[in-house]
Amino acid sequence: MVIIVGSGAGGAILAMELAKANVPVTIIEKGKYIDSKDAFNYYDKYDDNVDLLSTTCVGGSTMVSMANMVRALDEELYEYDINLSKEYEYVEKLIKVHGLNDSHIGKGTQLFLDSAQELGLNPVKMPKAIYEEKCVQCGRCAFGCPADAKWTGKHFVDIAVENGAKFIDEAEISDLIVEDNQIKGVKFIKNNVEETLNSDIVVLSAGAIGSALILRKIGIDAGREIFFDPFVSVGGVIKDINFNTEVQMGGLVVGKNFVLSPHFSSFIRSKIDKDIEDKDILSIMVKTSDECKGYITDDGDVVKINTIQDIRFLAEGATTAGFILEKAGVDPTTIASTVYRGAHPGGSAPIGKFVDSNLETEIKGLFVDDASVLPISPGKPPILTILALSKRLADYLIS
Ligand SMILES: Cc1cc2nc3c(=O)[nH]c(=O)nc-3n(C[C@H](O)[C@H](O)[C@H](O)COP(=O)(O)OP(=O)(O)OC[C@H]3O[C@@H](n4cnc5c(N)ncnc54)[C@H](O)[C@@H]3O)c2cc1C
Repeated sequence: MVIIVGSGAGGAILAMELAKANVPVTIIEKGKYIDSKDAFNYYDKYDDNVDLLSTTCVGGSTMVSMANMVRALDEELYEYDINLSKEYEYVEKLIKVHGLNDSHIGKGTQLFLDSAQELGLNPVKMPKAIYEEKCVQCGRCAFGCPADAKWTGKHFVDIAVENGAKFIDEAEISDLIVEDNQIKGVKFIKNNVEETLNSDIVVLSAGAIGSALILRKIGIDAGREIFFDPFVSVGGVIKDINFNTEVQMGGLVVGKNFVLSPHFSSFIRSKIDKDIEDKDILSIMVKTSDECKGYITDDGDVVKINTIQDIRFLAEGATTAGFILEKAGVDPTTIASTVYRGAHPGGSAPIGKFVDSNLETEIKGLFVDDASVLPISPGKPPILTILALSKRLADYLIS
């Protein structure tokens, strides 16, 4: 039997692939099994000094993701003898990654695409796992999809369970059982009672923060470094554009040190002018790759240290976003930015330091399979890379 801890991007596909291959699987999830439309209630709370977004529930942060699906870190992973080309093809087909149909490209997104094109920035439609036949174009992806119209890890948990996997929710790992450097199982608390589950294979997919904290329980000092792909949303006023209700992040510009995508943030209104309405704002997310200079405290909070390079990359991206907004017809005197935030925590137990290229730790049978293992900050949506790494791990465990 394989025990998988966490059911987000890494854990869900692993559970499904193993269950479909008739490998007995038990998923232990700290959060609840919920409806996708309710996911906004399950955002985690961190220290006030850091604006980091993640959720604890079935499907993890995939429940609030924008379903952007981009290949990343190909070159960096080759260094560890990891070539994900066939896994990428497999997962892209599995979750039907595609640029949105024109029917789902709104006016603000089209202005972003056209203006970036005029500036020679080579924009493309964002590859997405959103299913147009169900999508009601409400712009609420990050709240949890009210129509369940985007791929989430929850879908794969459901398939895993249909194929015989056992799913235990609202259960928190209290310890790992290790004997003679071999994993022997986990202890977890459910309904205030500690239970034990034995297995020679345990995979931690509790996310960059959750998995690092579990590794610390057995003296593996993970999470003393962490990245989170910082972003800001930069925007200004175009009267009645109604961009806030479009499918978000439908376009993409890949710059040298940043990516840009049309994105409405409810935090931007107060930065522009408190009397402006949401429907009058066009804004762009600027996301960069950051240096791995944050860390996780023993209480599970995250401290982020911004390096000169992190700030420089954001400045380059924000300037370029300003040019696009102006070309799109935004009143340049209104342009403002949100505060600095992060939504892709990773790198807390990277390949080459904490796990080998099969994602196994120094403890035999104990694997890590989530954003923790990414060797550097991708500065791009990481889900597709995590799914591909998990598919690779599934094939390894099956064989
Ligand atoms: C608002 C938002 C939008 C995003 N949009 C995109 C996007 O469009 N594309 C993209 O690629 N990425 C996106 N991301 C990032 C992406 O969702 C994460 O990078 C990805 O889900 C990380 O996968 P993971 O497996 O590491 O962790 P998660 O998906 O977060 O899964 C971790 C799981 O472990 C569980 N868990 C935690 N601790 C424990 C414990 N102790 N015991 C048991 N279970 C535990 C959690 O409840 C969760 O289910 C977005 C993130 C946010 C917050």
